[in-house]
Amino acid sequence: MTTLKENSFPGMPPERANLVRMMDAVIFDLDNCLADDSHRLSLIIPHLSGDEKYHQYHRLCFADKYHRGHIAVLLDELESGATVFFSTARPERYRKLSVWWLQQLPHHGLLSEDDISARLVMRPVGDVRPTVEIKRQTLRAIEDLGYNVVRAYDDRQDVVSMYRAESVDGVRMMIHDIPDCEAPRVEHISAAADVLHTMSDEAWPVQGARRTKHAPHAEHAVLRRLREAIQTFESRNKQYGGNNESFGAAFLSLFPGGKLPEINTVEDMNRLQVLMQLFNKLMRYAANFQDGGHVDSAHDAIVYSAMLEAFTK
Ligand SMILES: [Mg+2]
Repeated sequence: MTTLKENSFPGMPPERANLVRMMDAVIFDLDNCLADDSHRLSLIIPHLSGDEKYHQYHRLCFADKYHRGHIAVLLDELESGATVFFSTARPERYRKLSVWWLQQLPHHGLLSEDDISARLVMRPVGDVRPTVEIKRQTLRAIEDLGYNVVRAYDDRQDVVSMYRAESVDGVRMMIHDIPDCEAPRVEHISAAADVLHTMSDEAWPVQGARRTKHAPHAEHAVLRRLREAIQTFESRNKQYGGNNESFGAAFLSLFPGGKLPEINTVEDMNRLQVLMQLFNKLMRYAANFQDGGHVDSAHDAIVYSAMLEAFTK
């Protein structure tokens, strides 16, 4: 455990120095410690260097899952009254994404947005020193603020060893030790799209990797929904064989002379509507007949048949 030396605060009254000693702090790493980065490890490009080597890896950090057990450790530390700092070797340009991700954690109100922003320490722009050195400097900067760093969690053994050499209780806490790649959750990416958009130009060192320049926030949200709608249309159209184009002629062929019967009452309109729904389900089933049928359509057809019977006198 680090203890503040008597001469750490020259000129400070003893009672104030005692208060300072009470400010215990704990440090948490992000990647592979709180954040499961396994889905983006394959995005590190070995033959490149610097920002370009890690850019694709870092820019997807918002889509990480968190490790429930490790978040429980974070909550325990927060509830104990310790001031929590986050020390990561991610470069500063990924601050917005990192802050956004930290805000999504279930921290039960123990961490405000301001807390997270103020206590997230990242690799300074252009600093290419090894991670161990970056984190040693961060530790000392926190101590210089008057905190007594009692514990530090990290997935890297060399970083944990550094903490112990600095008389801090270093705890190795990691999610994986073998790259385990899986796709990020689509809904998580969708929810974070707006955060991506708010990043500044300098956050995107790889040309062409950035989204539409300076598009207003609301406009961006509308465009995202339109893209999702196009995907829905294309997937449904493929599944149902484009039956919206053939429905009219097929449905009319059910009736004598290929013409709709005369509709004079609300009850007749209701019956016709149910008959149309039932026929639509049968068409969808037929479009998927060769592939074994379409269970949802078969089930819905039962419901519409029951409704049709109830509406039939
Ligand atoms: Mg790490």
